[in-house]
Amino acid sequence: MTSESLKTTDTNKKTEKKKSAKKETVKKKSGKKPRVTKAEKEKQQLALAIVNRLKEAYPDVDCTLEYDQAWKLLVSVRLAAQCTDARVNVVVQDLYAKYPTQAALAEASVEDIEAIVRPCGLGPSKARDISACMKILQEEHGGQVPDNFDALLKLPGVGRKSANLIMGDVFGQPAIVTDTHCIRLVNRMGLVDGIKEPKKVEMALWNLIPPEEGNDFCHRLVEHGRAVCTARTKPYCEKCCINDICKRNGI
Ligand code: SF4
Repeated sequence: MTSESLKTTDTNKKTEKKKSAKKETVKKKSGKKPRVTKAEKEKQQLALAIVNRLKEAYPDVDCTLEYDQAWKLLVSVRLAAQCTDARVNVVVQDLYAKYPTQAALAEASVEDIEAIVRPCGLGPSKARDISACMKILQEEHGGQVPDNFDALLKLPGVGRKSANLIMGDVFGQPAIVTDTHCIRLVNRMGLVDGIKEPKKVEMALWNLIPPEEGNDFCHRLVEHGRAVCTARTKPYCEKCCINDICKRNGI
């Protein structure tokens, strides 16, 4: 091979290398940084501002359902569907007075559970789910509540909202709990636009709220929804901590 042809081969190799390096960069770029639109960026900034304002307004937040063991939160969250947390906190006292352990509750008849949980409404289906859920915890999870979102979703009566609540409150994992307060408030605030379906709201919020803030942010929305941005009366915008940045959609 002549020195000229050697040179040409080297140049070709370099060009190929450059091309593949460029391809790799493009690939990495597109894999790492999906394009964020201006509107999304604005929403992210609004979300961060709201997270911080609510944090100042409600520094200490926690789940309003009372529990001292993870499986009891599973019971309470099922009972809380279409019922107030305050009533659930009273009813579970009667339930645990009669069935103090998970094993005892797993062995209780559905009819007995229903008789106790009836004041929470939807008695038959709630009793059925609680009974089946306790049995599965006993038989398949060694009495432990699984610390895995997908495994939680497989438990009777546990939907995304409940699974997120357990992941966040019990296991300290990132969570977005889309209850009625959350859905009402994030629409009014302008973080989502006319989205009512809980899973869609959850997915939209995952893109806006820093994961480590999600769980407390949702607890704060509950507090704010009860005290200021109320559902049954006109919201008290004049005393709201995000008065100047809220979009007030539908208000
Ligand atoms: S400004 Fe009004 S609508 Fe917006 S969050 Fe506050 S109370 Fe709700």
